[in-house]
Amino acid sequence: MNDDPFCDSPPACPPGVLFDCDFVFGEPMVLSAREGGTTVQWQLDPSVRDEGVYRYTLQTGNAGVTDPDAWQDVVSETEVCFLTDLERRLPGVFPFTHYRIRLETDERTYYSRPLHTMGQLGYEDWRMYVSVIRAEHVLLARKTGIEGILHKRKISGRPCQRCRDFNTGEVRDAACRSCFGTGWLGGYYQPVPCCWFDVHPADTSIRYDLQVQGPVTNTRFEARAIASPLLISGDIWMNQQNSERYRIVQLQPIVEMKAVPVVYQLAMERLPFSDIAYQLPAEAI
Ligand SMILES: [Zn+2]
Repeated sequence: MNDDPFCDSPPACPPGVLFDCDFVFGEPMVLSAREGGTTVQWQLDPSVRDEGVYRYTLQTGNAGVTDPDAWQDVVSETEVCFLTDLERRLPGVFPFTHYRIRLETDERTYYSRPLHTMGQLGYEDWRMYVSVIRAEHVLLARKTGIEGILHKRKISGRPCQRCRDFNTGEVRDAACRSCFGTGWLGGYYQPVPCCWFDVHPADTSIRYDLQVQGPVTNTRFEARAIASPLLISGDIWMNQQNSERYRIVQLQPIVEMKAVPVVYQLAMERLPFSDIAYQLPAEAI
């Protein structure tokens, strides 16, 4: 729980605190069903005693970040403890759909943490999941990890008008300034601060590129990271110490709870300074 009643984003990155003010929603749960829609349920914390009518809005998005652009409203009701989304979103092998709850009172607005729709965690499982995530986060933040900033790649939104092929959707310019080579306008959501990755080189060999630049060191790296938010390949991580940027090329959950990823093992590629990813802003605008 946070001492700050207004839950502003903290200036530094306190270890172990991932989301500041979502405690007001108790243990929110996503109950997805194949038919009849997805219900998101929560329990308002008794310490919330704001004046006025409590208006809840269910929002959905596919990135699980705090950027307001990543979310759209689904349904709004007053004085409820669950909301149901009747639409089936992005069905497929990888469930990217996230939900979050917004509570507006006369005094202020609260947001829940992004809730993903992978797997089913009951109340006891959920408690375990939160404590494992928190413990891993403290370990990374205090000992093994490097502080960084995460850029979540867009996988939907407005298509890039400049470089995307009208018929096939193919991205024609990997260095496009409007979409950063993703094909979607803006390319990436606003950066997520306080993402600690335990990064180490995949191998330390030096190979010889005889045609272009002589000996070059390996650019493949491995990392351990917590699955909050969930990552996808193509996401970009920036090392806060030296501003180097890495692209996630492969990810594998090495700790899971009932099919919900908790900790990832990542394969990353260190990007050359000429890469368009270095034009991404290092702070939220
Ligand atoms: Zn483009």
